[in-house]
Amino acid sequence: MPIFIMNAHQQSNGIHEIHNLTTRCPLLPRPENQIDLGHHPSWQDAMALARRLWPRHRINGCYYCTKNAVSEESNRSLH
Ligand SMILES: [Zn+2]
Repeated sequence: MPIFIMNAHQQSNGIHEIHNLTTRCPLLPRPENQIDLGHHPSWQDAMALARRLWPRHRINGCYYCTKNAVSEESNRSLH
């Protein structure tokens, strides 16, 4: 099961991004800025946990290592 982290720093758009640590995402924050979210079956589960822990944060998945990894088909079934 992949390990997910959240960037302790906001992006310029005010969003804290969730990254999949096991994919070696090129946009991973520095280790000191990585908040460990633990193992999750999907990035959506990691995001749900992060939103419970930090309800005031704006949190979203990283395009490269989360949304990009979702196939067209599973993307459609989410909507
Ligand atoms: Zn990423």
